[in-house]
Amino acid sequence: MQLYTETDVQPDALRGERIAVLGYGSQGRAHALNLRDSGFDVVIGLRPGGATSAKAERDGFQVRAPADAVDGAGLVAFLVPDMAQGQLYKDIEPRLAKGATLLFAHGFNIHYKQIQPRADLDVVLIAPKGPGHLVRRQYEEGRGVPCLMAVGQDATGRAQARALAYAHGIGGTRGGVLTTTFAEETETDLFGEQAVLCGGLTELIVRGFETLVEAGYQPEVAYFECMHEVKLIVDLLHEGGLRKMHEFISETAKFGDLTRGPRIIDAHVKENMRTVLKEVQSGQFANEWIKENQTGMANYRRLLEEDLKHPIETVGRELRGRMSWLNE
Ligand code: NAD
Ligand code: MG
Repeated sequence: MQLYTETDVQPDALRGERIAVLGYGSQGRAHALNLRDSGFDVVIGLRPGGATSAKAERDGFQVRAPADAVDGAGLVAFLVPDMAQGQLYKDIEPRLAKGATLLFAHGFNIHYKQIQPRADLDVVLIAPKGPGHLVRRQYEEGRGVPCLMAVGQDATGRAQARALAYAHGIGGTRGGVLTTTFAEETETDLFGEQAVLCGGLTELIVRGFETLVEAGYQPEVAYFECMHEVKLIVDLLHEGGLRKMHEFISETAKFGDLTRGPRIIDAHVKENMRTVLKEVQSGQFANEWIKENQTGMANYRRLLEEDLKHPIETVGRELRGRMSWLNE
């Protein structure tokens, strides 16, 4: 793996070019503000009249319809939701300058061929490893969130240099820019959120809560143990890995971890993880999600509603209401 920092940036790679940022949500706003503060000419592309277009205007940006925003831009950043990017590309393609750079923050649409870019375009990925507000705050503090970088299509021979200049503009080279491929970023990102971060972790929490409540313990106590305290452990892991957690938890907790943990997350769970990974690799998950979007999202909405009706949500709301610091 290659690591790039500020000294690797070719200052002229994007100099004087206009950057069109499509989308002004979590990533879009942070990238646009950082790029402007780094001296770039930034224009925002959004559907007229939307909630975020008022925000972009309040932040002092010129907001245009996406097809107008990309006109004359040397680089176009696709920072709208993944499921909106395919149609958006079709809408703007005729207006893209020859040799322009398309930039993504997640590889989904390129990797699963929902967008098949014109042959004269460069296609790159800069994926900050953090949410937009952190990308912005770190930049303002003179630091930066590390980014992954990939080149999907190099029509000009300068695709990587241009991607790195963009990463520099959002502060990424201060944290370090690591090379990957569209395939690796997409597949590991989807697997991570499904198996570990969102899917796996929440199921672990909810099944633990249910186990205690079904055994007759009070839901409030179960909530503290299985949901609330996750943050204490995650913070330790985030700051210093397994070693830091072990330094801070009790001897008893450590012995329970080491002897019981592998019985909970056993070989069977790992087998399920491999199956989920295969569905990501084969495109089965992507097809399912694209189809869900095309057919009105009824299944998605039903599952979401069921998730939010769980008793852990009721007891959680009440208890969190007593934690004054949560709203600060
Ligand atoms: P978001 O949902 O926060 O914002 C989407 C923006 O796009 C909004 O301004 C919305 O008004 C606009 N929009 C929606 N549909 C549109 C359309 N059809 N045409 C024009 N504008 C439209 O999105 P996000 O979470 O910032 O995600 C953007 C990209 O960044 C995605 O590819 C995502 O995978 C990637 N990403 C997100 C994060 C994150 O922390 N949220 C982290 C890394 C990568
Ligand atoms: Mg879940």
